[in-house]
Amino acid sequence: SADLAAAFALIREIPDFPEPGVLFRDIGPLLADAAAFRTVVDALAGTVPDRVDLVVALEARGFLLGAAVGYARNLGVVAVRKPGKLPMVAHRVDYALEYGSATFELSDQIVAPGQRVVVVDDVLATGGTVRAACELVEHVGGEVAAVSVVLELAGLGGRDRLADRDVRTLLTV
Ligand code: 5GP
Repeated sequence: SADLAAAFALIREIPDFPEPGVLFRDIGPLLADAAAFRTVVDALAGTVPDRVDLVVALEARGFLLGAAVGYARNLGVVAVRKPGKLPMVAHRVDYALEYGSATFELSDQIVAPGQRVVVVDDVLATGGTVRAACELVEHVGGEVAAVSVVLELAGLGGRDRLADRDVRTLLTV
């Protein structure tokens, strides 16, 4: 739609961030614009399948989108976090990034066995981040019903790395 196109036009491209050779897409200006934020949150909420119990939002920009999607769809939100933030950790996963590596943790007794979750983040690049989050959810017996992301960077192999997942994105570049 025209509204979505206007929202996506607010995404900034920053060369050589966070290191030389990486073209970083900054969705900050999109989130800061009331109309763009609402349009994108509504569209992202629309990608969430009907029978989902919970939103799992990924640190840090995934928190901003995931919380709004949960509110829009009347779903609770769980934060998958970087290490050292959660008082009770069920499981931890180390994963590779386009630049470097990272670790995610999931709270203990927050996703119940059999619960169906949607994983929400801002950008899908290599897919390592989303894959780590899915692994955490499944480790505690949750089911990943879908993955909902605003921006998919084609060519970094994210969709291939998540071949067994229902990946729903709003914009592919
Ligand atoms: P991946 O694990 O798929 O390679 O990287 C995705 C994660 O890194 C997401 O959590 C996302 O926030 C961040 N990321 C990677 N590249 C970009 C980018 O160009 N722009 C933004 N905003 N985030 C990125």
